[in-house]
Amino acid sequence: MAVPQRRTSKTRRDKRRTHFKLMVPGMVKCEQCGELKLAHHVCKVCGTYKSREIIKQ
Ligand SMILES: [Zn+2]
Repeated sequence: MAVPQRRTSKTRRDKRRTHFKLMVPGMVKCEQCGELKLAHHVCKVCGTYKSREIIKQ
């Protein structure tokens, strides 16, 4: 079994974790209601996309 030759340093470990973000990427604020929504998706709260295109009311 492959085993690491040396222990990962604190610096290297922490540098790796700089990519761990608190927010899930692809979540943006809705322009209409300000709620968090998935990017390039119709807002579930107000049913709009690109501040137009009303899907349902
Ligand atoms: Zn909305």
